[in-house]
Amino acid sequence: MSNVPITVAHGDGIGPEIMEATLHILKEAGARIDIDTIDIGEKVYLSGNSAGIAPESWDSLRRTKVFLKAPITTPQGGGYKSLNVTVRKTLGLYANIRPCVSYHPFIDTKHPVMDVVIVRENEEDTYAGIEYRQSDMVEQCLKLISRPGCEKIVRYAFEYAITNNRKKITCFIKDNIMKQTDGLFHKVFDEIAAEYPSIEADHWIVDIGAAKMADTPENFDVIVMPNLYGDILSDVAAQIAGSVGLAGSANIGENISMFEAIHGSAPRRAGQNLANPSGLFLGSIMMMVHIGQPDIAELAHNAWLRAVEDGVHTYDIFKEGVSKEKVGTKEFAQAVVDRLGQKPETLKAVEYKKPEVIAEADRKPIYSIREPQKKDLVGVDVFINWWNGNFYGAGNDLGPIIEKVNGDGLKLVMVSNRGTKVYPSGMSDTFCVDHWRCRFMADDQGSTITHAQVIDLLSRFNEAGLDFIKTEHLYNFDGQPGYSLGQGQ
Ligand code: NAD
Repeated sequence: MSNVPITVAHGDGIGPEIMEATLHILKEAGARIDIDTIDIGEKVYLSGNSAGIAPESWDSLRRTKVFLKAPITTPQGGGYKSLNVTVRKTLGLYANIRPCVSYHPFIDTKHPVMDVVIVRENEEDTYAGIEYRQSDMVEQCLKLISRPGCEKIVRYAFEYAITNNRKKITCFIKDNIMKQTDGLFHKVFDEIAAEYPSIEADHWIVDIGAAKMADTPENFDVIVMPNLYGDILSDVAAQIAGSVGLAGSANIGENISMFEAIHGSAPRRAGQNLANPSGLFLGSIMMMVHIGQPDIAELAHNAWLRAVEDGVHTYDIFKEGVSKEKVGTKEFAQAVVDRLGQKPETLKAVEYKKPEVIAEADRKPIYSIREPQKKDLVGVDVFINWWNGNFYGAGNDLGPIIEKVNGDGLKLVMVSNRGTKVYPSGMSDTFCVDHWRCRFMADDQGSTITHAQVIDLLSRFNEAGLDFIKTEHLYNFDGQPGYSLGQGQ
């Protein structure tokens, strides 16, 4: 069997030590891999490359399609971009998978029975990074959720559950508030869940779901969620299982995938043979399964479990009375190598199968291409920056000023401030800032409007000396409103 080429980056801080330890175990376990090493991180940033990765390194990633990456240090300030976000988004690594497992009674944990896999959407949500300062008082971040983005991540979660013999998937969303963005994620979850009757599907509003996950993680199996919630809750899940230092993660794309530890480069621990290599090592185990070497993954993972069970622990998980031997990075890796061929006695041994090869024709598409719906422009929200010095009650002052730009078939139906209706009939108790949304719809209720009417409306705002800062169009899709109402509208 020929070797599989992989790209490896040793990273910064503790990165080189934990990578060496990981590769030592893989090599001794018989991994059939050819390593192509690239430089990323601090050295590359400081050489004047603000992305932290050299152009030729992308060629290696495109060639091998598999990336084992140690953590890097992002220099403070200076406009350096997050390499992780760049790599994930450039290579379309849409799914982030983080298994969070407790190793009771061998590693101290709040939750002796915990085996949760967080599947986090990795490309969109507020992480599109589209932000604006729009007025003296207000900053805005755009939350983008797309149907193909939801379909990709939700289908991945269900396929993951099937392949990994998982029984239940829970979706965490906040669609009681974000009825459209999180509402779409939930809707797609329900649609795709219906295609997998053998997997139990469940959903929670993210706040109470997170509380339940932190309290009784044994009631969860796989949890799928949008990017921001997933970012936060995967760290919580890893920490309550035992330590963020123990969790690995996979970032999966359609063509290329990246495997890493979830922790950073811990610069204060660097160069002292102290760091725990387990996070990166467990990331590499997911990589070995991914590249079709489940035999090596199983051998190495069971040896690791045995070392943990034998109480051979690095400083971060060492506990008097529980641990037997405090070791450094190298000695821990050697302890795993010495146990290759052994299985844990108390902890559950792992078994990995070769992923089933599904014929192209039988593969479910990871996203659908749908007929566009009928889209009608029925109104426009014009946002303005306006301030008369009053935090309370100013909506009733502004309303009549805005009424003056009515005309040409458009009329003001509402002014809101931070989403709450403040005109007409605004409450004097509502706190208002200098950022206002003025909603215009057709005079003739329910009719469509034109782009030309919107442009003329903006001209009238301009003539009235009103500082418009952005517009949002109000569309109906197949007759259904594609916009939210103001609070109190
Ligand atoms: P960190 O995860 O590097 O370290 C936090 C603390 O956790 C450390 O001080 C250490 O006590 C402990 N720790 C982490 N990993 C450990 C390990 N393997 N073994 C033992 N102890 C470990 O987080 P930070 O200090 O906030 O960030 C340091 C640098 O890492 C920053 O430059 C940050 O940008 C970067 N970072 C990189 C990645 C990545 O490359 N994937 C992720 C997060 C942070």
